[in-house]
Amino acid sequence: MKTIGLIGGMSWESTVSYYQIINETVKNRLGGLHSAKLLMYSVDFAEIEECQSSGDWDKSGEILGAAAMVLQNAGAELIVICTNTMHKVVPAIEKTISVPIIHIADATADALQSAGIKTAALLGTKYTMTQDFYKERLEKRGISVLVPNGEDIETVNRVIYEELCRGVVSAASRGEYVRIIGELKQRGAEGVILGCTEIGMLVNGECSPLPVFDTTIIHAERAAEFSMGE
Ligand code: GLU
Repeated sequence: MKTIGLIGGMSWESTVSYYQIINETVKNRLGGLHSAKLLMYSVDFAEIEECQSSGDWDKSGEILGAAAMVLQNAGAELIVICTNTMHKVVPAIEKTISVPIIHIADATADALQSAGIKTAALLGTKYTMTQDFYKERLEKRGISVLVPNGEDIETVNRVIYEELCRGVVSAASRGEYVRIIGELKQRGAEGVILGCTEIGMLVNGECSPLPVFDTTIIHAERAAEFSMGE
């Protein structure tokens, strides 16, 4: 089994889920007392968010690149960045290490394709929904991506930073997300990507009007499978 290196803390609320899902996947495959070999470097999310809001992506790339190097030097054989948004700086991180990064958008594209989804709604931070780094990766795989309209982009983004990343789960916000997903369904989406690793705290397949593709689950399972050579 390969040793997984997690770059977590963005936010730590969802890093908890990664740890649990990776270990559950290993337990289910290997049985007995098996558990994942992993290392974690958990950052201070306030520092990363400051880089995001000031547009200093180079600085955040340096911080995460340094974290990846620490993990590699400590024995990590693959790197998992536990956030969708910060995949924006994957090219900078890749420059610092030689072990592979398991890309969250690639794993998600595989899951969408296996389910036969051609048009997907994408919910995430405003960076993930409005910039190209994530959507383009899906579109290159032949998946059309729909994002919410202007004001709803603000709502989805606000709930992530002001509630979910602080551990707050509110019924009112769940209602807003369900409404927004319903509107994306009307516009032709066949499934919804929970393209922020905290959204699964708020929305799941039971309340969503569309089939749900939770990037935290997809990404964590892929990392565990990769570590077991699958
Ligand atoms: N965890 C979130 C994501 O998957 C948002 C936090 C961040 O900006 O990294 O995008």
